[in-house]
Amino acid sequence: MTTPAHPPVKALSGPQKALHKLGLVRDIDLALHLPLRYEDETRIVRLLDARDGEVVQIEGQITHSEITLRPRRQLRVTLDDGSDTCVLRFLNFYPSHQKTLGVGARLRVRGELRGGSYAGSFGREMVHPSFKLAGGELPDALTPVYSTVAGLPQAYLRRAVLGGLARADLGDTIPAPFTSPCRTQPLWNLADALQFLHHPRPDVALATLEDRSHPAWQRLKAEELLAQQLSQLQARRGRAAMRAAVLSGPALHATQACLQQQLLACLPFRLTAAQQRVCTEIEADLTKPIPMHRLLQGDVGAGKTVVAALAAARCIDAGWQCALMAPTEILAEQHFRKLVGWLEPLGITTAWLTGSQKARERREMLALIESGAAGLIVGTHAVIQDKVKFKHLALAIIDEQHRFGVAQRLALRSKMGHDEQEPHLLMMTATPIPRTLAMSYYADLDVSTLDELPPGRTPIVTKVVSEARRDEVTARIRGQLAEGRQIYWVCPLIEESESIDLVNATQTHQALSAALPGVTVGLLHSRMPPAEKKAVMSLFTSGQMGVLVSTTVIEVGVDVPNASLMVIEHAERFGLSQLHQLRGRVGRGAAASACVLLYSTGDAPRLGEMAKARLKAMLETNDGFEIARRDLEIRGPGEFLGARQSGAPLLRFADLATDTALLVWARELAPLLLDQYPELAQRHVLRWLGGKAEYLKA
Ligand code: ADP
Ligand code: MG
Repeated sequence: MTTPAHPPVKALSGPQKALHKLGLVRDIDLALHLPLRYEDETRIVRLLDARDGEVVQIEGQITHSEITLRPRRQLRVTLDDGSDTCVLRFLNFYPSHQKTLGVGARLRVRGELRGGSYAGSFGREMVHPSFKLAGGELPDALTPVYSTVAGLPQAYLRRAVLGGLARADLGDTIPAPFTSPCRTQPLWNLADALQFLHHPRPDVALATLEDRSHPAWQRLKAEELLAQQLSQLQARRGRAAMRAAVLSGPALHATQACLQQQLLACLPFRLTAAQQRVCTEIEADLTKPIPMHRLLQGDVGAGKTVVAALAAARCIDAGWQCALMAPTEILAEQHFRKLVGWLEPLGITTAWLTGSQKARERREMLALIESGAAGLIVGTHAVIQDKVKFKHLALAIIDEQHRFGVAQRLALRSKMGHDEQEPHLLMMTATPIPRTLAMSYYADLDVSTLDELPPGRTPIVTKVVSEARRDEVTARIRGQLAEGRQIYWVCPLIEESESIDLVNATQTHQALSAALPGVTVGLLHSRMPPAEKKAVMSLFTSGQMGVLVSTTVIEVGVDVPNASLMVIEHAERFGLSQLHQLRGRVGRGAAASACVLLYSTGDAPRLGEMAKARLKAMLETNDGFEIARRDLEIRGPGEFLGARQSGAPLLRFADLATDTALLVWARELAPLLLDQYPELAQRHVLRWLGGKAEYLKA
C-alpha cells in the first residue's frame, strides 16, 4: 500500500503533528479542509442595536475592570461603545489579560450577548468573548471555523489552510464540455469554489452553505463523486490489465477428477436456477488468470454456502488452497462442519482456525496449511493472522462480508504469498446493497445475485405482538414443540450494557424453563466460553434442545432447518437488517414457519417513529432487497455502510440521498475522462484521494 506522498519529516512541531493527524499533509488536503461554519467579523454592531442571544462584534472602551471572588473568581470588565455598556466576564484568565483589559483600553470584542441573569451581574454581558485591540481593518469575507483537534489552535489552522489554498494546484481537471451535470447552470471552477467556501462574502445566504446547495458546494460534491468513480474504475481496469501479465490470478481449470461434479452428485438437493447461474458466473471468473472480485448477494437462506463450496471444490481440484473466513466462531464452526461433510468424502483435508483453539491443535492446523496438505481452511479472523502461512492460496471467500472491515479483507487477500499475484476473492452477503450505494461504493465489484430461494419453503409469517401478550407466545411455543419443532428466542444486545442483556436473556431463560417443564431450554450469550457455546449449539443443531434462548450471537448464518419459530424480544431495539437476518434463521425447511416480534414501549406511551417504521417493514415484506431499500431510507447511507467506514473514504461532501443527479453524472463521465483525458483523470484522483485510492479496491 502506498502512503500519501510527503517529504521525509524531521521534527514536527505540535501543531504540525496535529495537522498530520487530521490527514492534512499536502497543500491540496488543506485546501479541501472546508469550514464547519463561519463567523461574521466583517461588521461592528452598536450595542444598542444588538439583540440578546446574538453573536456580535462590538468595539468600545473599557471603563471598569476588577477581579471578583463571588460567585467564583473571575475577571469582570465593563465596555462602553458609546451606545450602551456591556460586562465581559472571564472565568479563566492570565495576568496578561488583566493588563490588556485595563481601564482605558479600546477593544474589538466578539461573543454572544446575553441579558445578565447570572448572580451578581446586571445588564448585558458576554462570557469569554474573543477580543483584540480596536481599530484594525475589517475583513471583507466571513471568517471560517474549521474542525480541529487538541493542540491545533484555530488561528494556526486558518493560516495553514490559507497557505495551502494559495500554493495548491487548483487547475481544473474536468474539461469544459462536461461541466454541466444539472443542465441548469454549469459548475463553478474549482479554484473559485474553494476560494468562496473558505471565505464567503458576507451577503451569502448562509442556508445555502449549510445545506450545501450553493453552487460552490455543488462543484465540490461533483469533484468528490468523480474522484470516487474514477478510482474505482481504475482499480477495475487495473485488474483487467493483469490478464495480460504472466503472473496474475491463478487460472483454476477443472481436472479429470472434477471434484465439483463429484460434489454436485453427492448433494441431497438440486441447485436452483439462480444457484446454477451464479456458479457459472463464478466459474467463468475462476478460469481466467485475472483475480476475481465478486460479491455474492442473496437473501438469508438463499443457499450461498453451497455456492461457496462448489467454488472451493474447483479451486482445490486445480491444486490450490481455498480459505473461508466468517465473522463469528459459531458461524465458522457451522461452515466447517457443513463443508467437512461435503468435501471430506471427496478426499479433501480441511483445517480449522479460531482464536480460542488450544495451542497444540493450532500448531497442527498451521502445519497442515503451510505444507499444503489442507485444501480448505475455515475460520474466523484467526485466518488472517501473521502466523498463518498458506502454501498456495488461490481463493479467498468472506462470508457476511459487511461484518468485516476493509483492512481485514485486504489482509486475507495479501495472504497469497506472491507479490505479483492476488487470490480470487468471493464475498458473500445477505444484506443486499441498494442501487445508489452499489453505484457509488461498490462500482468496482462484480455482483452475482441469488434472487430465488430453494424450493419447498413456505413463506415465513411475521407477527408483531405486544409484550403484554407473552403468555400467548409461550402457548404457541408449546404447540410447535408438540409437533417436534424447535424454537429460537432472541434477546437484544445493548452495546453499553452487556450485563443488562444478560439479565434479560437469563430471566427469559428461567421463565421459559419454568413454563415448559420437561423441555430442554438452552441459553447462549456472548460472554460464554467458546467451548460452552459450542456445546449448546450442537445440542440445538442435533435436535436434542427444544428452545434456544440467546442474545444476538446467533445473528448470522446459523442453519437449523428444523427450527420453525423465531421469537425476538424487544424487537423495537433491533435494526431492520438485523431483524431480517434473524427472521431468516427459520423457514429453512419445509415446515410453515413464523417470526414473532415482541415489542415493549417501556415507560413511553408509544413506540418511536423509527422503531415503528422498522416493524412495519418487517410485517409488509419478506424480500431482502426491499428490506435493504427501506433500511437505507430509515437510516441513511452513512450508517448503512457500517463496517466499510473503517477504511474506505466515505463521501465527505456528497450525500447519496440528495446528490443522485451528480452521482449519475460522475458515473457517466468517469470512463470518458479515463479514455479521452487520462492525464486529467490521474490528476483528479491524486488530488482527491492521494494514497488512499488503494483502499477502494477492498
Ligand atoms: P445462506 O444463503 O443464508 O447462507 P445457506 O447456505 O445456509 O443460506 O442455505 C440455507 C439452507 O438451504 C441450508 O440448509 C442449505 O443446505 C439449503 N439449500 C441450499 N441450496 C438448496 C437447494 N438448491 N435446494 C434445497 N435446499 C438448499
Ligand atoms: Mg450463510
